[in-house]
Amino acid sequence: MRDEQSNEETILLKVEDTPPCPQCDGPTLLLARFPHAWKNGLGRDVSGLRDTVLCPGCHHKDPAAAELLALYAVDGHVSPENLDVFGGLVAAWVESVRQRRVDEGALIAEFELWKRGEL
Ligand SMILES: [Zn+2]
Repeated sequence: MRDEQSNEETILLKVEDTPPCPQCDGPTLLLARFPHAWKNGLGRDVSGLRDTVLCPGCHHKDPAAAELLALYAVDGHVSPENLDVFGGLVAAWVESVRQRRVDEGALIAEFELWKRGEL
């Protein structure tokens, strides 16, 4: 196992004021920003951050996204009551997007509730 200098696996989630979907321009439910590594034209490893959004119109065919969308359909929004379930589904979804294991503990959500310290 390679250990790169302080490789923080931080995934930022935004649930408010998310940008429109790049594919259909429709409203999105969630933005996830995660560290992403790829190979450039010279075959070198490059790392940076990548954003992905959850769009109800475009992503319902993706099984991991569909589960998350189903939770939104039932609960309407993320709340302290469904945070556990939500966190697990978000981890699975981000994992499927970046095709790498995601540590659920790496997820940092920007919730209004969290900012107010109500959790
Ligand atoms: Zn879309």
